[in-house]
Amino acid sequence: MTKTDSHPSFDFIRNIIAEDLSINKNEGRVVTRFPPEPNGYLHIGHAKSICLNFGIAEENRGVCHLRFDDTNPSKEDIEYIESIKADVKWLGFDWGRHLYYASDYFDRLYDYAVQLIKKGKAYVCSLSPEEIKEYRGTLTEPGKDSPYRSRSVEENLDLFERMRAGEFEDGSHILRAKIDMASPNLNMRDPAIYRIRRMSHHRTGDKWCVYPMYDFTHCLSDSIEGITHSICTLEFQDHRPLYDWVLDQLNVKCHPQQIEFARLNLSYTIMSKRKLAKLVESGAVFGWDDPRMPTICGLRRRGYTPNSIRDFCERIGVAKRDSTVDVALLEHCVRQDLNKHAPRVMCVLRPLRVVIENYPEDLVESLEAINNPEDPGMGSRKVPFSRVLYIEQEDFREDPPKKYFRLAPGREVRLRYAYYIKCIDMVKDGQTGEIIELRCTYDPETRGGGSPDKRKVKATLHWVSAAHSLRAEVRLYDHLFLKANPDELTDDGNFKTNLNPNSLQILTSCRVEPSLENALPGSLYQFERQGYFCVDTQDSSDKLLVFNRTVTLRDTWARIQKAMKNKPL
Ligand code: ATP
Ligand code: MG
Repeated sequence: MTKTDSHPSFDFIRNIIAEDLSINKNEGRVVTRFPPEPNGYLHIGHAKSICLNFGIAEENRGVCHLRFDDTNPSKEDIEYIESIKADVKWLGFDWGRHLYYASDYFDRLYDYAVQLIKKGKAYVCSLSPEEIKEYRGTLTEPGKDSPYRSRSVEENLDLFERMRAGEFEDGSHILRAKIDMASPNLNMRDPAIYRIRRMSHHRTGDKWCVYPMYDFTHCLSDSIEGITHSICTLEFQDHRPLYDWVLDQLNVKCHPQQIEFARLNLSYTIMSKRKLAKLVESGAVFGWDDPRMPTICGLRRRGYTPNSIRDFCERIGVAKRDSTVDVALLEHCVRQDLNKHAPRVMCVLRPLRVVIENYPEDLVESLEAINNPEDPGMGSRKVPFSRVLYIEQEDFREDPPKKYFRLAPGREVRLRYAYYIKCIDMVKDGQTGEIIELRCTYDPETRGGGSPDKRKVKATLHWVSAAHSLRAEVRLYDHLFLKANPDELTDDGNFKTNLNPNSLQILTSCRVEPSLENALPGSLYQFERQGYFCVDTQDSSDKLLVFNRTVTLRDTWARIQKAMKNKPL
């Protein structure tokens, strides 16, 4: 489902909510939540969930809670909590005072577990983890009852209390819901609800050595917070009966409605914190915020704007069936945003020296350049022109093939905002034969880029003045993976064979026009004819400007759309 207008389309979730509001369900309240586990950095898939949950709350004058689902002390870290908060804020959403931690509910969750035991709906099981697996059965065969299933309430209460007191080793006992070992839904075959983990928690310290499982924690946290619509991804569909079972047994006041939607999958991208962590740990990338990563912090460092990501999330819409979105659409969204807002400047990525023989040695002219033709309000600036310039190596060919209209011996081209120049000679390296300098003449009558005699040139090149330009490092990025569906290859941990060896190319002798001298980290530009770039927030300094290429100018998405004759997705 794609949408092109600017209104949030009424997807099936928004329809359910509108329907609920029309019958005054939940007294007209809409309370959603975004519940990340703090075990990694957020990625573009989470952005979809954030935009959906916070978006729905905003549209309905409701609230959206940010809740850290921090029930697994072994994988979680305070570093992730801070980064998640920063990323949600950066995307432009505000949880106000509604910041919660599942770990804040540990006392209440423990009490709920005791209640289940008292009702005969939970028991302490002392099978080994291997035995539990064996007893669970398979999709085609029912499971077997645990021999501990018939323990008395008293015995269960005593054992659970002693689990909590730290008397037992990890894995020696677990608390299980007593549901149905023959259920066709494996999640209902007496799932674990509490396990022993003799481990410190980043928020509760050593207070607990039993920790509640996700399925038990999640529904009760939703209920405690008065969530009305608990929106999650499709893989939780089979957990919904358990979600409802727990809340029904405990007779809670608030029983939220769980609604599942299809998670975002993107071509050329892996989207699992676990796998992304592997990329970081194995050194395949330089960190969670490597600009090639699909993390929010990676995209931010790459030059993506909050607007472009929100626009993307709106365009992909919300559906009930899994699909893979073309990463070209994400690139299209940032291109659209930057086209309107990023000032255009000139940067030569691979410089070739040009000497204008008939231009005076000591003359420097300040030529007017427009900052963004899409937005006259962005004004103009001056760029210095002088006798020695740099142009792009690829803008000159000694033997131009057909349809190559740029500079060649004897040929005339326009320099953007400057003059027509004509190539009259070239200088080659005596040993390698490589062209190291062009000798040109300019036509003083063409100042500003037009010729009084309406003489046509077929190319307009970008350039910088050699003496005035600044050296810069530019990092060009490509897909991290070679295959469009890298997920298929990553489970056995051998995703390295699918890594694109050219996903990062570093150019160290680029030259940018002097107006960028004080460019701030994070600022965004269009380098004319080269793409959109941003000043790197980590490595750029007073000594050396470092740029990341966000995207090229070539819009493959627009081409795909055209090929589909503007049919919607
Ligand atoms: P991962 O598999 O990357 O670790 P997760 O689902 O385990 O993701 P959580 O921290 O539990 O990560 O996710 C927080 C919320 O974000 C959940 O509601 C989850 O459904 C949602 N979410 C995670 N990945 C995606 C995705 N690719 N598309 C949409 N929503 C997602
Ligand atoms: Mg998870």
